[in-house]
Amino acid sequence: MEKTLVIFKPSAIERGLVGNILTRFQQKGLIIAGMKMMMLDEKILREHYSHLVDKSFFPLLLKSMMASPVIVMCLEGKDAINVVRLMTGATNGREALPGTIRGDFASSNQENIIHASSCPEDAKAEVARFFKPEEIFDWVPVNIPFVYSALEIEK
Ligand code: UDP
Ligand code: MG
Repeated sequence: MEKTLVIFKPSAIERGLVGNILTRFQQKGLIIAGMKMMMLDEKILREHYSHLVDKSFFPLLLKSMMASPVIVMCLEGKDAINVVRLMTGATNGREALPGTIRGDFASSNQENIIHASSCPEDAKAEVARFFKPEEIFDWVPVNIPFVYSALEIEK
């Protein structure tokens, strides 16, 4: 099973979309391995968005990500990184396909509802950035044999 990091951005919190999006992840069969509410600060955002610090929109992105508390979540599942990125959709909500979270809820390139890790290296670093080891729970819901075939379950 693979772990990935999701952030419910202020655009999800302020617009009351948390329950709807969480339901989608649960319906898909993803396991919630960790979840908490927190206020992000400039230090953690400069690390998290280090690939964007030189962009002209970075100050606005910082402001947007600190506009309210966020909910950070570690989701676990088979190929969870790719599955969650597919469910998330393209960065720009106006280009994200209908049926994706951004395609259904976002109309912006910045206010795009959630963050999702993009590759295994990022997922590992991001889960460690936002969660202490004891905040990640190694548990297997009883429904897992009905989410995956026996061949697909590693643990
Ligand atoms: N972003 C923005 N303007 C842009 C590109 C990105 O405000 O032109 C923001 C947007 O909120 C995006 C985040 O920066 O989700 C991270 O950008 P990235 O390219 O990593 O996109 P993502 O992985 O979130 O799809
Ligand atoms: Mg990204």
